Amino acid sequence: MGLFDKFKSLLFGKGDVSEGTQDEKPVASKQEPVASKQEEPVSAKHEAPVTKAEPADMKVEQKPIIQKPKEEKPVADKITVGHVHMSGCTGCLVSLADNYEGLLTILDKYADLVYCLTLADVRHIPEMDVALVEGSVCLNDECSMEEILETRERAKIVVALGGCACYGNTTRFCRGGQQNQPQHEAFLPIGDLIKVDVYIPACAPTPQQIRNVCLMAYLLLKGNDEQKALATAYLTPLMNLAAAGTEACGCDLMTEVINQGLCCGCGSCAAACTVRAITMQYGRPQVERDLCIKCGACYAQCPRSFFSFDVCGQYESITNLIGEVMKP
Ligand code: SF4
Ligand code: SF4
Repeated sequence: MGLFDKFKSLLFGKGDVSEGTQDEKPVASKQEPVASKQEEPVSAKHEAPVTKAEPADMKVEQKPIIQKPKEEKPVADKITVGHVHMSGCTGCLVSLADNYEGLLTILDKYADLVYCLTLADVRHIPEMDVALVEGSVCLNDECSMEEILETRERAKIVVALGGCACYGNTTRFCRGGQQNQPQHEAFLPIGDLIKVDVYIPACAPTPQQIRNVCLMAYLLLKGNDEQKALATAYLTPLMNLAAAGTEACGCDLMTEVINQGLCCGCGSCAAACTVRAITMQYGRPQVERDLCIKCGACYAQCPRSFFSFDVCGQYESITNLIGEVMKP
């Protein structure tokens, strides 16, 4: 049974009537040849009568009405994931949902969503394996400050999801003075307040990248040795990015890539910039600083920034692994 069918039957009950109902069977049996008087009486109430003259391959097939469910992974094997919403726009959560059926596969087999104010009625941050934190933290909001500290306490792996959580993004430009909370004027990326394990930069990050990080966290915590090694290879560059700091700007390309003689003119940075602050001129990126919203996507996407042989060397194995675990 496909995921859609499962979802449908969960919502509306088992609506497939194509296999016939019990009421239909007596009608069908009326059309069959009447058994001769010498035949033994048929004892089973639901078995179609079979005459001695009837060839075996003419038997009416008895399809079980309740089909044996497909073998599922036990729930205990799943990891627990929470989405913590700080000062963000929910775009990162939408990006996670943009995995469509892939998200259902993850929730079906690998992760329980134990906290997400947008989607679930759980009011307090529980213990969890992975916290996907979206948004920066308002220093003038006591609740937000408590929430981010609680998140760190209760999550094994804290992931900064999106440019705001990683680098502040558009909230870097907040100056307060707006109704109805004019005193809310200072915002910081979560890495300035707690230790963050993994970064997923960009505004918003791609659905695939969020999905991959969730899968890799699962394999890291529940997988076999080989899977753990591949998950570590995948996550290491994103962990290095988290360790590198909380500042990002299009200028990083200039100071860290172009000025170091590393730029190959591939244009990945321009393609990654959601606000089109980068144009390619003479084969090199030109950043319009007034347009830059400090999301960090360009530097993260640049193949010459935190290039990792671990990932590139195992690209095929990692891709195959993702394909294998994402089979519905
Ligand atoms: S130049 Fe574009 S991609 Fe780079 S940090 Fe600024 S907004 Fe983000
Ligand atoms: S992505 Fe990196 S290597 Fe490619 S053009 Fe931009 S700065 Fe240069």
